[in-house]
Amino acid sequence: MSEALLITGCKQLLTLRGPVPRRGRALRDPGIIPDGALLVRDGRIVAVGTQKAIERRKDTRRAKKLDLGGGVILPGFVDSHTHLVFAGNRAEEYEQRISGATYEQIARAGGGILSTVRKVRAADADVLFARASRWISDFAAYGTTTVEAKSGYGLSPTSEVKILRVLAGLRCTQRLEIVSTFMGAHVVPVEFRNRPDAYMDLLIHKVIPVVATEGAEFCDVFCDRGAFTVEQARRILTAGRACGLAPRIHAEQLARTGAARLAVELHAASADHLEKVNAADIRALAASDVTCTLLPGCCFHLGLAHYAPARKLIDAGAIVALATDFNPGTSPTLNMQMVLSLACTQMRMTPAEAIAAATINAAYSLRRADRIGSLEVGKFADLAVFNLEDYREIPYYFGVNHCRLTMKRGSVLHGSSKMQEG
Ligand SMILES: [Zn+2]
Repeated sequence: MSEALLITGCKQLLTLRGPVPRRGRALRDPGIIPDGALLVRDGRIVAVGTQKAIERRKDTRRAKKLDLGGGVILPGFVDSHTHLVFAGNRAEEYEQRISGATYEQIARAGGGILSTVRKVRAADADVLFARASRWISDFAAYGTTTVEAKSGYGLSPTSEVKILRVLAGLRCTQRLEIVSTFMGAHVVPVEFRNRPDAYMDLLIHKVIPVVATEGAEFCDVFCDRGAFTVEQARRILTAGRACGLAPRIHAEQLARTGAARLAVELHAASADHLEKVNAADIRALAASDVTCTLLPGCCFHLGLAHYAPARKLIDAGAIVALATDFNPGTSPTLNMQMVLSLACTQMRMTPAEAIAAATINAAYSLRRADRIGSLEVGKFADLAVFNLEDYREIPYYFGVNHCRLTMKRGSVLHGSSKMQEG
C-alpha cells in the first residue's frame, strides 16, 4: 500500500460537503469541522473528520504526519475564468481611464484587447510560457489550485494555437491544474475589421476543428456590444460543441444583448459577468444548469458602481460562482481572497456563499465537481491553509494574503511544511 499523509491541526476545516451544485440557502453551509483532520493517500482524501476520530483509525499509525498548528483550511480556490497568457500590460490605459476615457473609447482608438493582441502575436512562445509560469506560482501562493485559462489574445490560427500550446506546456510542467478554453471570438482582429463574417468562417472552418486537438476543453465568446452578436456567438459555440468543446460565454457585461439567454438555450457550462442582466434573464438562469460566474474584480478595476446582481441570482436559485477574470485590461488580479472581499462588500454575498462560489460551484462549471472543489472522501487533496481563526476573516482583512500553504493532490504547491515520518 502506498504511503499515507495525516494532516492535523486544522482549527477550522471547511469541507464544502453537500449537494452539487450549490443553489440558494445551501450556499450558506460551508460544512465546518472544528479541530479537523484529513487522511490522504495517492493524492486523494480517504478520511475527513475531527482529529480525534481520524487519529483513532488504524491506518493513520504509519502515515506521514503534517501538523498545521491551527488555521483555517479550505478546498483550494478554483479560478474558473482567467486570461492567463498575455504579454505586456495596460497600465497606460489604466491611467487614461482614471483621467476620464471609457473602456470602449480606448478600444475604438486601437487600445484595449487589440493592443494586447499585438504584443502576444509578437512574443515568442517561450517568453509567454515563462511569464505564465510565474503567474501560476502566484496563483498558488494565494490559495488557488485550479485555473481555467482562455486563449483569445492571438486571433489568428497560428497565434491562437501558440497560446493553447503554452497552456498545454504549463499542464505538463506545473502541478497546479490548468483548464484550457479556446476564445478566438474575443474581438474581430484588425485584418478582418470590415469582414467579420470572413473571420467567423475562419474560426468555424479552420480554427475550431484543430483546437480540440490542442487541449482545449471549452469554447468561449465575448458576446457584447462592440464584440460579437448573439447570432454570431450561437454559430461559433455550436461549431465548438460539434468539435467537443463545451460552451462558455462572456455575457451582459457592457450592454444587455441576450447573451445570457443564449447560454441557457445552448446549455452552456457558464455565463460570465452578467452585470446587465434583467429580471427575466435572472429567472431563466435560475431555472437552468448554467453557472453564473461573477467577476467583481472587473467592476472594481474599471471603477464601475454597477456590480452583477449576486443577491438576486442567489435568491432566485441560480448557480453562482466567482472568479478573478485575471487579464491585463480589466482585472489584473489573481487574488481570489480579494475577489471574496469584493463579493461580500459590493455584491452582498456572505463569506460562506462567496467561498462556496469560489470552490465547489466553480469546480462544477469546469465539469470537475466529482474531483475538486470540496474536501470529501474520494476527492483530490487540493487545499489552502490560512493563518486565521475564522473563515470570515479571509474577506474581512481585504487586500492581504493570508495563505500560508497550498496543496495540490496531497503535495505542497506553495509554502513550507515539516512532515514527520509515521
Ligand atoms: Zn474574461
